[in-house]
Amino acid sequence: MSTTNIQASVGRNGVNQRDDVVLVQTLLLARGFARVGDADGDCGKNTIAAILDFQSNFLKNPDGRIDPGGTSWRNLAGTYPGLVPATAPAPGAPPAPPAPPAAAAKTAAAGAAAITGTVPRPDAASINVGLKFVSNSFMLAKIGNPRDSYSQLCQTPTLPLLRRNLVLDSVGPFRVTGLVPAVLSLKAVMIDIEREQPAVYRALGTAGMLCCRWVRGSTTAISNHSWGTAIDLTLNGVLDVYGNNQVQRGLTLIAPIFNRHGWFWGAAFRTEDGMHFEASESLIQQWLPSLR
Ligand SMILES: [Zn+2]
Repeated sequence: MSTTNIQASVGRNGVNQRDDVVLVQTLLLARGFARVGDADGDCGKNTIAAILDFQSNFLKNPDGRIDPGGTSWRNLAGTYPGLVPATAPAPGAPPAPPAPPAAAAKTAAAGAAAITGTVPRPDAASINVGLKFVSNSFMLAKIGNPRDSYSQLCQTPTLPLLRRNLVLDSVGPFRVTGLVPAVLSLKAVMIDIEREQPAVYRALGTAGMLCCRWVRGSTTAISNHSWGTAIDLTLNGVLDVYGNNQVQRGLTLIAPIFNRHGWFWGAAFRTEDGMHFEASESLIQQWLPSLR
């Protein structure tokens, strides 16, 4: 399916092509409209109710329908490449006047330190609230084993179901290869980060998403990167140091946004992994019906 557009209208009195409905449902789920239930491609009354809820955030008279290229689609999809010109300002965000060069450089240096400087990892009880990280047994039972053999190095998946459902796409600040619904969800996460933490957004990069390998230091536990449902982030090109119980400050600013979208932060792992975010069990559960 296309991850960047719908082919025809979705919702009340819409054409409701299956792939289009799956895409709209996945984006609604990624934005927290749990009323959708599952992304099953069937546009029933719960999906229409979720579209109405979503539209009530920006339309005076929600109509329950999402048209290709229309206002609702643009709000749902955000600034997807190829849909909105790159020069278009973000909704509701007038561009700031340029600062004088010296002041700008000073502010930029201070901003960089504020983002990549480290702080003790937050108390485990204060993050990932209500989210459960996915176990290997859950992923093996629900999706299957990405490969027959693993090492500490990245290898490609061989599982046909997984290979059919991978996509390489931009999520805003960078491109990744991952499971289709995970990449779609990351787009929604990034739209919110850009709005709520623009300085961190500008510093964001990635150290990879899909990578079939063991968990670091293990020869029995499969990394969730193997299913393309986890991502490692860099800030100003710097990786957070693994296992030192310190995390980059910028990560603490965006972790609540990831959590809100159902992504679990690796800062809470026994061995601190602050650069790492992965789809929680409930997200994977929601995505399963969209895999084909
Ligand atoms: Zn990772």
